[in-house]
Amino acid sequence: MFSKRVQTLATSPTIAIDTKAKAFKRQGVPVINLSVGEPNFQTPENIKKAAIKAIQEGNSFYTDPSGIVELRVAIANKFAKDNGLTYDPSDIIVGAGAKQITYSIFQVLCEKGDEVIIPIPAWNTFVEQVKLTGAKPVLIKLKPPFKLTSEIIKKALTPKTKVLLLNTPSNPTGAIIDFKELQKIADLAVKNNIFVVSDEIYEKLVYTEKHVSIASLNKKIKDFTITINGLSKTYAMTGWRVGFASGPKEIIAKMKALQSQMLGNISAISQKAGVEALNGEQTSVMMMKNAFAKRRISCLKKIAQIKELSVSEPDGAFYLFISIEKLLGKKYPTATAWAEALLEKEKVAVVPGEAFFYPGYIRMSYAASDEDLKEAFIRIKRFIEKSSGDRV
Ligand code: PMP
Repeated sequence: MFSKRVQTLATSPTIAIDTKAKAFKRQGVPVINLSVGEPNFQTPENIKKAAIKAIQEGNSFYTDPSGIVELRVAIANKFAKDNGLTYDPSDIIVGAGAKQITYSIFQVLCEKGDEVIIPIPAWNTFVEQVKLTGAKPVLIKLKPPFKLTSEIIKKALTPKTKVLLLNTPSNPTGAIIDFKELQKIADLAVKNNIFVVSDEIYEKLVYTEKHVSIASLNKKIKDFTITINGLSKTYAMTGWRVGFASGPKEIIAKMKALQSQMLGNISAISQKAGVEALNGEQTSVMMMKNAFAKRRISCLKKIAQIKELSVSEPDGAFYLFISIEKLLGKKYPTATAWAEALLEKEKVAVVPGEAFFYPGYIRMSYAASDEDLKEAFIRIKRFIEKSSGDRV
């Protein structure tokens, strides 16, 4: 019945766990959901007000499929100010979240016979979206502390390599690519005629070093790079679905053509809210980042107290990618089995490493309230202690 393309396609594992956790919550079960990647904050007031005003002013019509000009101008200003990137608003596309943007990019660039290099652990969606084009995802395994280097990429290059996927700071590890390596990676991509798809959605959530956009390094790499970003994480706007990208003119033009057939435009109201998010007061961004920074430290301390767990300190994003290898054995042979049991027995939802092509680990989001995080560690500790006798 189904096309070959979708035969092995499954619901995103992160979304599947989130759905289960939210169902528990609806039933009144006191579940702590550290699975999905979404800030626990409300969208800032000024952005909500802009959306209400947009409704009242009658923004109820189709817009330009690639986004209203006002928003694309705001995005062009953002790229210039934050990333040192000059793009004309006509070379910017707004889509239904960064997720839809990456989908379009892979559709436009990739097909059967192509290879796309994806460093793992990686966000599951990248791999599934590449597979949907018929191209082959080439997964390159990073070891803790999960820092991507040009040398590792070099080993995976073949004449079929078409795209290199970068995600810095990374979901799920939080790792940032070191500046010197970023320069080497840029040179490598240019030399080998490889497009770089650079997902920078966590750029504002960095705690150790500055974020640098690979496209800003020089003109040559800019011509090979599509830079992706969005409002979901920075402005606590996951439900509004605003993502965007810019890059070489012809690529963006083709993405716009695809989007005009696939989506039309994203909600006109979300676009107006997006203008306010980018142009308006930025204090709430700082406030949220500071809260994440504190939680990052307190969670790292908690993990250090549980000898069975180990973690590389993340540079950015709001995730901890934790090794649970010491806890796996007869009873819980895989991270998936362990995470399922943790949810069943202690009602804490985390994502198993298999969802990131990296068994033996779990991803925990610390974009949750301080109370929830505190309680989650009490439960995790209890779960580990209770199951310790069952391991071998
Ligand atoms: N890229 C990465 C690396 C992500 O982690 C996520 C969210 N999980 C997205 C893109 C998608 O974000 P959105 O579609 O909400 O913009």
